[in-house]
Amino acid sequence: MSKLILVFLGPPGVGKGTQAAKLADDLKLPHISTGAIFRDHLKRETELGKKAKSYMDAGNLVPDELTVSMVMDRLGQPDCDAGYILDGFPRNLKQGEELDKALQARGESITAALNFDAPRSVLVDRIAGRAEKEGRKDDTPETVKNRLEVYDAETGPLTPWADGKRILHSFDAQGTVDEIYARVKVVVEGLKAGD
Ligand code: ADP
Repeated sequence: MSKLILVFLGPPGVGKGTQAAKLADDLKLPHISTGAIFRDHLKRETELGKKAKSYMDAGNLVPDELTVSMVMDRLGQPDCDAGYILDGFPRNLKQGEELDKALQARGESITAALNFDAPRSVLVDRIAGRAEKEGRKDDTPETVKNRLEVYDAETGPLTPWADGKRILHSFDAQGTVDEIYARVKVVVEGLKAGD
């Protein structure tokens, strides 16, 4: 099939990172998580990491000019030739438009946007569980509240954006990891069949 460019959308704590990793493994495609790339820069104390730190610690978005160039660099690497899974990008309409523009210049487009949906209470519980296990600095209750607000204000509008492009696939992200993954696979098999 042609190059598979998948975008995973959904609020913090919805479990899209777990699902993106599983699918990437299955399809042998790179899993590009902007959050994970930023955390790596933080750990290595790179220039980009130093610039991103205060935004991430507060649960705000890292400015677009830093984020977009980082992603574009990554998408230009040879392992992205067959396709990729974007997790955590785009995170606002400006990033969505930048992605579209860059893809268009290469004669490509997003194949599908998978939108993970779950009630707020489930998200808050999952993040609290993850905070205990991973000790992420942006998983404190105060920061989580802000991240959810940032999601509503900035990332939420990407759902109607993707719908307008007829690439949106929304589904219930409640249940076990395997149950949710089965739903992801149905969507992906449908994409392959329609290719
Ligand atoms: P979650 O999905 O649980 O909120 P992520 O690991 O995706 O966590 O992101 C963690 C943090 O990294 C975000 O709160 C934000 O500060 C930064 N970040 C990740 N992706 C982006 C992006 N596309 N644009 C701006 N900031 C981002």
